[in-house]
Amino acid sequence: MIVAIDGPAGAGKSTVARGVARALGIGYLDTGAMYRALTLVALRSGVPCDDDAALARLAREHPVHLEQGPAGVRVIIRGDDVTAAIRETEVTASVSEVAAHPGVRLEMVARQRDLMAQGDWVCDGRDIGSVVFPGAEVKVFLTASVSERARRRHAELVAAGETVDLRAIRDGVERRDHADSSRAASPLVVADGAAVLDTTGLGVDEVVARIAGMARDVTS
Ligand code: C5P
Repeated sequence: MIVAIDGPAGAGKSTVARGVARALGIGYLDTGAMYRALTLVALRSGVPCDDDAALARLAREHPVHLEQGPAGVRVIIRGDDVTAAIRETEVTASVSEVAAHPGVRLEMVARQRDLMAQGDWVCDGRDIGSVVFPGAEVKVFLTASVSERARRRHAELVAAGETVDLRAIRDGVERRDHADSSRAASPLVVADGAAVLDTTGLGVDEVVARIAGMARDVTS
């Protein structure tokens, strides 16, 4: 079974997807982490974020490994643990440009399908229900108001010890919403058959329980 959770930046997808995977006792794949890891490699190796062919080559040469550890999923590239580095502001600011390239998406989607060919998965991203697994048994489009999403992202960064301005976070969320929704290759859309869940004002546990319930209904 595949549970596909898509939606805009800061809608709480990864927290919810992790919770649903735990509740159902199945694996979790964070596809945003894969695009972030490629962006980090590009920034570190000086590959321009507008060079589709070079970025697609980089993705082939630096496959991302996601390891389930006691403290959550660890992101590894060529033996280097980049779990924290892929969340840095510089990566967040460039990832939507990198992810917009068709060549990059071809590589990533192929790898995501390979990784999830066996077993049951909860997978979150922007195009899981629409492109990667249109046949997913459960499809959810998770969203929340822009100010709520900005507030959540701000709280996350503050908890991680960063000094950040809420207004700047909100601008960044709006910029990524626009870039992810208006790109030609696999734009962020509500997939056919997806349930739209607005999490503004809802707690994580409630959202997790609803989606886990949808998955149980499908399998029972
Ligand atoms: O989910 P997260 O915010 O970590 O994703 C980072 C970026 O990666 C998104 O803003 C989007 O540009 C890109 N992405 C994507 N397709 C996915 C997952 C993420 O284009 N399936």
